[in-house]
Amino acid sequence: ESLTELGADPDERAVEAALRPRSLDEVIGQHRVREQLSLVLEAARSRERTPDHVLLSGPPGLGKTTLAMIIAAEMSRPLRLTSGPAITHAGDLAAILSGLNEGDVLFVDEIHRMSRPAEEMLYLAMEDFRVDVIIGKGPGATAIPLEIPPFTLVGATTRAGLLPGPLRDRFGFTAHLEFYEPAELDEIVRRSAGLLGVPADPEGTAEIASRSRGTPRIANRLLRRVRDYAQVRSDGVVTRDIAHRALDLFEVDHSGLDRLDRAVLDVLCRRFGGGPVGVSTLAVAVGEERETVEEVAEPFLVRVGMLARTPRGRVATPGAWTHLGLSAPAGAPF
Ligand code: ADP
Repeated sequence: ESLTELGADPDERAVEAALRPRSLDEVIGQHRVREQLSLVLEAARSRERTPDHVLLSGPPGLGKTTLAMIIAAEMSRPLRLTSGPAITHAGDLAAILSGLNEGDVLFVDEIHRMSRPAEEMLYLAMEDFRVDVIIGKGPGATAIPLEIPPFTLVGATTRAGLLPGPLRDRFGFTAHLEFYEPAELDEIVRRSAGLLGVPADPEGTAEIASRSRGTPRIANRLLRRVRDYAQVRSDGVVTRDIAHRALDLFEVDHSGLDRLDRAVLDVLCRRFGGGPVGVSTLAVAVGEERETVEEVAEPFLVRVGMLARTPRGRVATPGAWTHLGLSAPAGAPF
């Protein structure tokens, strides 16, 4: 299992929930998104209207669900949660929409994975607060319009580019979440250590932060693994040395690359001479889904400057060769 994905572990879900910021003020980093969102919400509050639909995009673990929960909390409205893959039929969506009350916030995670008919139903619901329920089949089928109360849709997607244009256009506010800076992650790790009652040195939290792949979820997860290590092998205090040893044990390297990241680089350099190579080919070579490589591994490798996307495929940068301790062969791209 990749480090970035949230597994089914109920313990982990509980810890995640406990560590989630509950208001915009508690959110660390993402300054611009926070300010924009705060403005959108405050304006809606002062007009006593439901806020515009919000689209949040960015790699897993950067805070999309957290922001959706905060939007509902800031509007003092309940949050209804569902996900694209859970909506297989338009009827599933119709049931959810018709159960909404005025001002409810509906969070649809992985909205790019919704079925086509559901997507079309959603266009109408977002724009006119109406759905057409189709009764019957074939030439005798009739559409019965059903009014739904004004609501705010918060959609989350790993890549905004995966959404069809008509759907993307119906969001009044779109925010792209970026990977976090080490100083921000350090603040997140310190906050989480405080909430979990884990004693930690500043160098210890900094070490965890710098290996967290720019991702709060990973920062929190690594903190828990380092805590385990500190408890079992030491006196329970998270120091730099303990963090270092624990993270080596869990195969997170000093740049924060995890096993999948390294596998992608390894295949790209050793098997394909640094590319260019198509992302599907890479995915097959590392034994992962194309989506995982494209939406989880790649954005981070691009961000740390080890991989580049070119029209002809993915290529390794000089940084990738250095990271693997290899020298780029003559004729390698770059
Ligand atoms: P996503 O929905 O994008 O996959 P989540 O909202 O579930 O990500 O965030 C994962 C975890 O990371 C949450 O438990 C939350 O505690 C933490 N987190 C995310 N963003 C922040 C932030 N800006 N400040 C503090 N903690 C954060």
